[in-house]
Amino acid sequence: MTAPTRARISCAALAANLSRVRAAAPGCRVISVVKANAYGHGLVPVARALARTDAYAVARVEEALALREAGLAHPVILLEGPLESADLEHAARYHLDLVIHATEQLRMLESYRGNARYTLWLKFDSGMNRLGLPLRDAPAVLSRIQGLACAGRPLRLMTHLACADQREAAMNLEQLQRFRAAFPDMVCDVSIANSAAILGIPEALEAPVATARQAAASNWVRPGIMLYGISPFADAHGDSLGLVPAMEFQTRLIAVRRVAAGESVGYGATWRASVDTTVGIAAAGYGDGYPRSVPNGTPVLVDGREAPLVGRVSMDMLAMDLSAHPEAAVGDTVSLWGPGLPVERIARAAGTIAYELVCGITQRVAMDVVE
Ligand SMILES: *Cc1c(COP(=O)(O)O)cnc(C)c1O
Repeated sequence: MTAPTRARISCAALAANLSRVRAAAPGCRVISVVKANAYGHGLVPVARALARTDAYAVARVEEALALREAGLAHPVILLEGPLESADLEHAARYHLDLVIHATEQLRMLESYRGNARYTLWLKFDSGMNRLGLPLRDAPAVLSRIQGLACAGRPLRLMTHLACADQREAAMNLEQLQRFRAAFPDMVCDVSIANSAAILGIPEALEAPVATARQAAASNWVRPGIMLYGISPFADAHGDSLGLVPAMEFQTRLIAVRRVAAGESVGYGATWRASVDTTVGIAAAGYGDGYPRSVPNGTPVLVDGREAPLVGRVSMDMLAMDLSAHPEAAVGDTVSLWGPGLPVERIARAAGTIAYELVCGITQRVAMDVVE
């Protein structure tokens, strides 16, 4: 019994994408973002394949502990910091680095009585208005932190850009200017760029202040989606950016049938055969994480060549027109996205972004990690 629907994760692709990050951000350190089960690709195997990174970042304490339990010793950054004081104990025990983005977290550190010294990333809000301390409070925050025994030195600074995937948006440089202006004399490590900024906003890869001393401080980039071979931009696919898809989402044909002219296929009878048509049924549906919202005509790959979906995607199955594939037979592999069929294309057809599709792969999909 082998699960018919599988996600093949390529370690070689992950490693190549990490090299692509290094080439795009020369001189920067790399924090590989592996939150949300490594964007659906499998946290521990992905982290191992990215072992040449400088650090990992996750969103939840549980994710950080899974990395430690797997024996990975790199710095691990909690992107949302401690959410309750018990998180500080975990962070101490497992050597987790903390993003501090809110005054509640400053208070948590002030009332911490343990012996740990945390590596702290002070996250300031330069305009995203999601997480981050206000930039106008920067001097007060710095002096509060400097009085704390649990605050490791030197401090590090972080901010996040709201429009990095729109290279031309004026807001990108505005955010950078606000951020830099708030720390005029400070030379320390900073982290600003996600995938889109790495590929599109060179100013985000510079050190915080342009001085002769800047070599003493590093800029740490935070790639997520590009590590998985996926474009952060709506108008591009990963391959045009030198990225290699890390996931192939595949299933098998479980039926091949003739549908007579005038007959419909699937729930709601949303597709009707205009001529007698060979239709394949494959063993994947929204129960596996394939989006139900894609229209008729969305491609899958049968034997490496495109075949259009017909009718609605159901929970466990989807149907395709095999007119151009007379040799297709039950048991054949059907690729839903991956090399040769960018997940970005399927996301666009579904009216969403590729991030959501890869994160949405469900539990019953078998994961195969390949070289
Ligand atoms: C998820 C996340 C990233 C990675 O973003 P990508 O667009 O996937 O590169 C970087 N920084 C923060 C704070 C994040 O939450």
